[in-house]
Amino acid sequence: MSPVPILDPTVRHLYVHVPFCPSICPYCDFHVLTRKAGMVEAYLAKLDEEAARLADAYDVQLDTVYLGGGTPSFLRDAELSALAGSVRRHLGWGRVENTLEVNPGTVSVERAALWRDLGLDRASVGVQSLDDATLKFLGRQHDARQAREAVSTLVDTGFRVSGDLITAVPRQPLDSDIDGLVELGVGHISAYTLTIEPGTEFARRGVTVEEDDERRGFERTEELLTARGFTRYEISNYALVGQESRHNLSYWQGRTYLGLGPGAAGHYPASPGVDGGWVMEDGTGILTTRRTNPHLHEWLAGAVGEAEGIDAHEFVTDALFMGLRLKAGIDLADLSRRSGRDVRAVYTAPIERNVSRGLLVLDGDRLQATPAGWWVLNQVVADFL
Ligand code: SF4
Repeated sequence: MSPVPILDPTVRHLYVHVPFCPSICPYCDFHVLTRKAGMVEAYLAKLDEEAARLADAYDVQLDTVYLGGGTPSFLRDAELSALAGSVRRHLGWGRVENTLEVNPGTVSVERAALWRDLGLDRASVGVQSLDDATLKFLGRQHDARQAREAVSTLVDTGFRVSGDLITAVPRQPLDSDIDGLVELGVGHISAYTLTIEPGTEFARRGVTVEEDDERRGFERTEELLTARGFTRYEISNYALVGQESRHNLSYWQGRTYLGLGPGAAGHYPASPGVDGGWVMEDGTGILTTRRTNPHLHEWLAGAVGEAEGIDAHEFVTDALFMGLRLKAGIDLADLSRRSGRDVRAVYTAPIERNVSRGLLVLDGDRLQATPAGWWVLNQVVADFL
């Protein structure tokens, strides 16, 4: 008989999806659209309803809230105030961190002050590059001067600021992009390789990313940021001490979170005895559920995403896939407690194989990917499936 898993029934994290953008970037494959008359009003009304429903359905005590998109900062002041009001009224702000994704072209001193007054304390700014030619290639609506001003304004207004960078862009001056962001006073940098997703404008145009550029971006970003006091605490994320994204850590640590808004994904606790939740005697049963909301028009019409039950095996492989992205790796004893599976015993073979290949390190109960393992992480995790 397998042990009963110990999962926290309280949900402590909330993601809110705001799907509107001023224009669509040629590499973007998120659920985004440009606004049309009446659309934002309908979105805000539905969001308020959904927030009330989530508050009724779950035990919610939020540590973190993340307003992402899309471009939440593209909402007009009254609209963002209404959205913040719905979150605050039904679910409350996070006690630890409340992040707003910000497009540089939407920042002013007055708006930054309003965002702080609404209860937001961290800004994740889509800088992408501080080079005008690179920004133009990426189809961004802002230039380098606007990006610099936006970051400085947010830092001066008291936000903890993270800057997003895209790497592996042809002819990108990566060193000055990184140095420029650090000099502006950000405490956190997310650096993602440009990827060409099917169905995007870049895919239609046949844009490609060279593996050499990708590897150079991967290695050079770490070299420069480590020398400037940042820690690479996740494959693509760097932070000064105490500046890690507490919200994103919840994803990488396999915690539950609510998803609010069209296209938002959520990971929800399953209650003992409900829908097979925590019925573990034969290794089956559901620990949590995942659900992705439908896109805007269906969501407005009342459609809900299908819930997918996560059993112990999937819970563990998801946790491995996400947790090995972290420099700290995974505590296998904790994962065994939370999943009700003896993770070390079940996965002895893939653990030993990948340790002997130099892709993983096992130190006591802690399993971590090596730098070589990070580079081929999909392959490493596939070995556990
Ligand atoms: S601003 Fe961000 S979310 Fe909006 S289209 Fe561009 S990449 Fe996509």
